[in-house]
Amino acid sequence: MILIVDDNPDNIYSLQKLLESKNFKVDTAHSGEEALKKILKYNYALIILDVQMPDMDGFEVAENIAGFSKTKETPIIFLSAVNTDKRFITKGYDSGGLDYVTKPVDPDILMLKVKTFYRLYEQTQALKDIQQALEMEVERRKQAQLELRSKVDYLHTLLESLPQIAFTCDHLGNIGFVNGRWFQFSDSENTFPQTHPDDRLIMAELQESLESGKPLEMEVRVKKRDESGYSYQLLRVWPILENGENNWVGTFTDIDAQKKAEQEKDEFLSIASHELKTPLTSIKAYMQLLDRKLSLDKNCPEAKYVGRVQDQVGKLNSLITDLLDISKIDNGKLRINKKVFSLERMVQNAIDSIVQTHDQSNMELYRQGDISGLMVYGDEIRLEQVLVNFLTNAYKYAAGTEKVIVDCSVMTDVVKVSVIDFGIGIPENKLSEVFDKFYRVEETSFDFQGLGIGLYICSEIIRSHQGTIAVESSAGKGATFYFTLPLNLPTDAE
Ligand code: ADP
Repeated sequence: MILIVDDNPDNIYSLQKLLESKNFKVDTAHSGEEALKKILKYNYALIILDVQMPDMDGFEVAENIAGFSKTKETPIIFLSAVNTDKRFITKGYDSGGLDYVTKPVDPDILMLKVKTFYRLYEQTQALKDIQQALEMEVERRKQAQLELRSKVDYLHTLLESLPQIAFTCDHLGNIGFVNGRWFQFSDSENTFPQTHPDDRLIMAELQESLESGKPLEMEVRVKKRDESGYSYQLLRVWPILENGENNWVGTFTDIDAQKKAEQEKDEFLSIASHELKTPLTSIKAYMQLLDRKLSLDKNCPEAKYVGRVQDQVGKLNSLITDLLDISKIDNGKLRINKKVFSLERMVQNAIDSIVQTHDQSNMELYRQGDISGLMVYGDEIRLEQVLVNFLTNAYKYAAGTEKVIVDCSVMTDVVKVSVIDFGIGIPENKLSEVFDKFYRVEETSFDFQGLGIGLYICSEIIRSHQGTIAVESSAGKGATFYFTLPLNLPTDAE
């Protein structure tokens, strides 16, 4: 808006009409005092100021305007009868624009000047807006940085208070922060603790995680700085989103005592099962002798007891074998002797031995799927052990039902062997755990004997054959346990 200040209403009228005809918005004041009041109240893009006015002349008005910070940049065009010396009014009026138009006013000249000042005003205004927006942005960023800093400080305080060794690193694996405990294992805040020569390298494992974006969890032995040897630690590193970038937080948790206890338990299991095996083998041999002797006498009533003792000895034997297997798996010593063999023969052997040991059962065993002539590559004895385990479980957990099915199906590049029973089944939320070591489904563990290690051994055997093992089941609906084996025979296999 443009303010016209003139004591002569005729002048105001003609100027107002002229400006309005060019689409400018116009306000008017008839004296210097009125002008000052309006200028303080409203914002004007330009003031057209008559110099000769009674009471307060144009120069005085201009001097006052220059004194107010709000208005000192508003451009002014003086309308004067004569070209008066203007030096004294420019004093203190350093910004904005100043110009003169002499009366009688030439409308073209005036409009030219008005337009120039108006454009100048608009550009200044736009610049001001940009500056304001920039200032706000700078302020916002400063604030965000402060908030981030305080979050990082908070995170570091948290990490410092942890009982574990803790650190942060960026997406390239460069270590950022380490807490005080770090220096128990490393003498530099930039390098990871030294690991045992037989263990995987932390940096190599971490690199894989950083690339895939997946958290890292590994057990590793790290060297203590006090020269007292290595200590087992559980290293966990997981990503946190910070400032739009993935940064990582890691901890080393001391699991040394737990690891040692586990090792002692494994050693005990291994020794105990070895020691138990020796007398058991003698008992088995003597029982066989006794069985042969007593079965010669058809009327001997004790003969049937010998058979039962042999059954129990068989169960004891397989329990001890399982315990031995567990300790072998834990020590990485479970031997797998792979050869090419007939899968049909292996399946039939497993079925024969299970039917023999369950001759009291009323369950019918059915076969589905033709695999005659199919050769696979693996450890026949260990794979038979898996199938016998599935079948033993089926007879145990589906006792009293009518049938169990062994299904063999050949797919594109794998063969699948399933044991399907119609027994108590397994609740769906427990399915993922049945292959864990010592796991037994709580709801049924009191009703059935067992150690919860058979399926764990099976999964380890199948894993070392690059196969898959799984179960499909739900409570009360029976269970289907299956394993698959790859069908590609090695070119150099015998
Ligand atoms: P165990 O039978 O000696 O307890 P396993 O490792 O063979 O140990 O089986 C683990 C658990 O899985 C069992 O305790 C049982 O709860 C469940 N399970 C295994 N097979 C079956 C099945 N066929 N039906 C229902 N539950 C089963």
